[in-house]
Amino acid sequence: MSVDDLYREIILDHYRSPRNKRRGVEGAIAVKHDNPLCGDELHLAVDIKGGELADVAFDGKGCSISQASASMMTEAVQGKTVDDALGLAETIRLMMHGESPASDLGDLMALEGVAKFPVRVKCALLAWMALKDALGQADGSSS
Ligand code: ZN
Repeated sequence: MSVDDLYREIILDHYRSPRNKRRGVEGAIAVKHDNPLCGDELHLAVDIKGGELADVAFDGKGCSISQASASMMTEAVQGKTVDDALGLAETIRLMMHGESPASDLGDLMALEGVAKFPVRVKCALLAWMALKDALGQADGSSS
């Protein structure tokens, strides 16, 4: 199996069996982002306790890349501190614009393959931009 095939499998697996996807998702912080170019929609809910992301869940619809990226994002940032989660979101943003991450990001590396298709970059970044937005709203309220 080539690396591209492996990455495609990871994305399809998250698309078919999304992690932390809940219908009518609710949380202390809730944001909705969409990507009209593709028709992707994402509702993201984040609960922060003691400066850590105690719960991150999403609901949404759209292309496989947008939904798989959301699933991968919720899995990756669960339990992280707000700063670490923001740092990871920035690393992913840079990766989608062609800058390879300094360390191996595991399954998240599958998103790097998407960077080859500029029209798909917004799909892959939708969940990460929603996360940034949600964490921005948490400023001051996380104790
Ligand atoms: Zn899309």
